[in-house]
Amino acid sequence: MIPVVMPTYARADIVFERGDGPYLFDTDGRRYLDFAAGVAVTALGHAHPHLNAALMAQAGKVWHTSNLFRVAGQESLAKRLTENSFADTVFFTNSGTEAWECGLKVVRRHFYEAGQPERNRVITFEQSFHGRTLAAISAAKQEKLIKGFAPLLDGFDQVAFGNLNELRAAITPETAAICLEPIQGEGGIRPASIEFMRAVREICDEFGLLMFLDEIQSGMGRTGKLFAHEWAGIKPDVVAVAKGIGGGFPLGACLATEAAASGMTAGTHGSTYGGNPLATAVGNAVLDVILEPGFLEKVQRTGALLHSRLEGLLAKHPTVFTELRGQGLMLGLKCGPAVGDVIAKARANGLLGVPAGDNVMRLLPPLIIGEAEVAEAVAILDRTAAEVKP
Ligand SMILES: *Cc1c(COP(=O)(O)O)cnc(C)c1O
Repeated sequence: MIPVVMPTYARADIVFERGDGPYLFDTDGRRYLDFAAGVAVTALGHAHPHLNAALMAQAGKVWHTSNLFRVAGQESLAKRLTENSFADTVFFTNSGTEAWECGLKVVRRHFYEAGQPERNRVITFEQSFHGRTLAAISAAKQEKLIKGFAPLLDGFDQVAFGNLNELRAAITPETAAICLEPIQGEGGIRPASIEFMRAVREICDEFGLLMFLDEIQSGMGRTGKLFAHEWAGIKPDVVAVAKGIGGGFPLGACLATEAAASGMTAGTHGSTYGGNPLATAVGNAVLDVILEPGFLEKVQRTGALLHSRLEGLLAKHPTVFTELRGQGLMLGLKCGPAVGDVIAKARANGLLGVPAGDNVMRLLPPLIIGEAEVAEAVAILDRTAAEVKP
């Protein structure tokens, strides 16, 4: 008999009852150090007092009004996001893949308005991930995402991640944009190099293309900058954001420049829930914390500490952990044994991580962790490595 919850996930048999900062507690009272953070979502940990207060205060006023009316929380959140980024304008969604789809619509509509509707194709990269809608899986083209869901959406050309020759060769008069994750998350924490991101920006300028970034996982402070592309010193045209932006409340955002969003006039796009008062109250509270002076610098320092401690672990267990990748608090450990086994053992030892492509264990702790949590996580991984050593 099919389970009442449609069985599309391979779930671990654990129910969490409550969380506190970087810790989760299951229904048996066991404590876990949460380096999964709901897949980079609970960026400020669990039960953050400032987020709780913002949510409860808004809950007592008004939950939802639709986008037929102004939403004050959207206006303030959009103002702060644009003041602190490349963007001039923001569309709010409930999820990452919706933010990404909005980006795709921004791109297509831009060229439609420019009188070049034939320019509607987007170049994407191998191992990329943009969510689970039909457009997003059509763009990512990964076998495990698309199998059985044909016909897919046309309009995506794919090249090897990091390969400039293939990228240039794939550009045609129909190309509208290049879409990439600054650090591929689901693909296995594979960073685009600074040089590659700069070269993509130059190629976009040379051919008049829009640079469309998926920062759903890498954004909102995860790498120690508000957005990962800032490390390359470039300005994209369109960026999809979600995950950490709501700290666990469903919220996403599509950020764009005024020029890129030229076609997004009244009636062109919409969402019933997108950016509702509850979501944007929490989003503003998340931003209060992330934009506090020194917060991102601390993420950088903690990330560097975790990185160096993990390097030590690689040296000690070279057959278990074979490679360390990523930036800030978006790190990946490529495993020798099956990543599922490593993650299960780590979980039994009290540490949560997230599997990714390329047999990688993702470490995506809440951005609020410090030295103590780094030491605890590394000690658990050390013990875990000794247990799973092939
Ligand atoms: C999680 C993720 C998505 C999809 O976000 P949803 O909220 O699950 O729709 C898209 N792109 C990237 C890079 C992601 O990490």
